[in-house]
This record gives sequence, C-alpha cells and structure tokens, in this order.
Amino acid sequence: MGNSQRVIGFYDVPMWKSIDEEAWAIQQCDNCQEHRYPPAPICQNCLSFDATWRTLKGTGTVVSTCVFHKKYFDDHVPPYTCAAVRLDEGPIVVVNLVDPTPEDGAIDKRVEILYERHEQGMLPKVRFSA
Ligand SMILES: [Zn+2]
Repeated sequence: MGNSQRVIGFYDVPMWKSIDEEAWAIQQCDNCQEHRYPPAPICQNCLSFDATWRTLKGTGTVVSTCVFHKKYFDDHVPPYTCAAVRLDEGPIVVVNLVDPTPEDGAIDKRVEILYERHEQGMLPKVRFSA
C-alpha cells in the first residue's frame, strides 16, 4: 500500500523546512498581522503580499475530530484520529491526534504539537496538553 506522501506546493517549502526542524512556522501578514494558513502569496484578510514566517507557539484547541478505521497508508495504521485544531495564532490545521479520545470527547480540549519522524521527514501531530 505504501507510505503517505507529503504534498508540497510552491508556497509550502519554507513551512515543511520548519517542520523538519521541529519548529513549525506559518506566515504572518506584515500589514495586518493575521496569520496565514495554508501558505499563500497574499493575505486573505488585506491582500498584502508582505509576510514573515513565524514559529508557532505549538498550542491550540480541538475543533473537531474524525477516526479513520480503514487503512490507506502503511505508516498510518488504523484506527487513528485526525483533528481540526484552531491554533492559538488563529488558523485551523488538520493533524493527527496521537492520544485516544476521552469519554467526554476531544472538542474544546487543549493540545500541543509534537513531531514524528516519517520516511520523508518530520510530521507534525498533536497530543492533549497536561
Ligand atoms: Zn494582511
């Protein structure tokens, strides 16, 4: 079945480099200060072209989760959980949640980013914060 493959677009290269260094960075608009994700050439808020890559604090809040029970890739053994996480910087990212979902659910729980080595490099995931 093979391992999952990163999909790296033209604007994504600095982000994946930062992830490989275990310091996930996303763009922050130099004009309106809004954080931008996924990486893009212009700000979705003010249309400015100017942005600076900023390392994330590494924390956020779970917005939604989904458990995969079917095996799609050899390096993602089911069951595994994907979570939509609102980063403290604002944008929502979809990442794997490594912890089991508690009985009272995962929504609104605090999480922190961790990094897991895969064949192509590091992959950001989240776990519940203490
Ligand atoms: Zn802006």
